[in-house]
Amino acid sequence: MQTISSSKQAIELEDKYGAHNYHPLPVVLARGEGVFLWDVEGKRYYDFLSAYSAVNQGHCHPRIKEALIEQASTLTLTSRAFHNDVLGPFEKYISDYFGFDKVLPMNTGAEGVETAIKIARKWGYEKKGVDENRAKIVVAENNFHGRTTTIISFSNDENARKNFGPYTAGFVKIPYDDISALKAVLNDPDVVGFLVEPIQGEAGVYVPGPDYLKEAKAACEEKNVLFIADEIQTGIARTGKLLAVDHENVRPDILILGKAVSGGFYPVSLVLADDAVMDVIKPGQHGSTFGGNPLGARVAMTALEVVKDEKLAENAEKLGQVFRARMQNLVEKSDLVQLVRGKGLLNAVVINDTEESSTAWNICIALKNNGLLAKPTHGNIIRFAPPLVMTEEQIHECCDIIEKSILAFEK
Ligand SMILES: *Cc1c(COP(=O)(O)O)cnc(C)c1O
Repeated sequence: MQTISSSKQAIELEDKYGAHNYHPLPVVLARGEGVFLWDVEGKRYYDFLSAYSAVNQGHCHPRIKEALIEQASTLTLTSRAFHNDVLGPFEKYISDYFGFDKVLPMNTGAEGVETAIKIARKWGYEKKGVDENRAKIVVAENNFHGRTTTIISFSNDENARKNFGPYTAGFVKIPYDDISALKAVLNDPDVVGFLVEPIQGEAGVYVPGPDYLKEAKAACEEKNVLFIADEIQTGIARTGKLLAVDHENVRPDILILGKAVSGGFYPVSLVLADDAVMDVIKPGQHGSTFGGNPLGARVAMTALEVVKDEKLAENAEKLGQVFRARMQNLVEKSDLVQLVRGKGLLNAVVINDTEESSTAWNICIALKNNGLLAKPTHGNIIRFAPPLVMTEEQIHECCDIIEKSILAFEK
């Protein structure tokens, strides 16, 4: 492998040999530890993206690293053609941890969403009695559930959709955070599931109204429709509770998890449900060569232990309050910052400019120069989501950096 000696060289290689399917901030990272990242030149940054909330436990967490090394030296992959001695304990651990009868392990988040869609449809035909090929799944506008052909079929991001058709049928889109729109569409007896993000992350950290999830779940229950929560980004302590639905004491019928399930070491996604739903899946009907492999299973169990042992949900709740109070203060001081919103340590700051403007991007460049990495989600919205192992002193230092960068930018 070619040795990288400068950021410029690394960016040129990516540009020449890699598909251009991302538009990264111009920083080349070489090392991570806890809340920090270092670039090729040795400059240190606070990480405020956490790999889209996949490293809630902090970079290169020593306990997760140990578990990975130990399992990597013992057994990594058997496929599901045979049993292995980690899968059973892992499935019990996960089911107990989240309080469901059963789990179906996959690898990426998008695969988790695909799995939930397949389970919901099959449940619709076999348990609810919907006529074959008629099942509908309700989704929210401005959703983000991943990048497969089926998932982009129900996105309304034109960039994600255009020229990738023909699209998968069977999805109905309604406005997010609109309980009457949901109730209206649930009158259709072919609806089998409502797939929703408890907070819309990629759309720009949209937090729904206070009882939205609770009312949505009740409306689904009334019409015998599965409430499917995509907590790939909001789950695993990010919003100040283990799950974002916990803020409203809602228990989904199908729960989808990914990202921080494995603390950034290894892709692991999970779909959880009770027997009445999960049992519709029989041998040969769904799976993945790597899904539930011993290495991923061991990493995930340890990563979830860390979340509890280090009280990451409590820390996210506490530091989230500090962050939003500091940003609210900045909103009052600066014409450039319109508002701050979020829950726990999943927050966004809306920049007072058009969606098409490059102001938010340019602010992120200024933040990078001042030692903090964040990225715009949609045009004028900057998401701030540091690892949950941050200290109160550190979050204040980070707020100082953000404040200084934005106030300097205004001039
Ligand atoms: C990231 C994300 C996904 C997709 O996960 P991948 O691992 O990138 O496939 C799905 N849903 C939500 C809410 C996400 O944030």
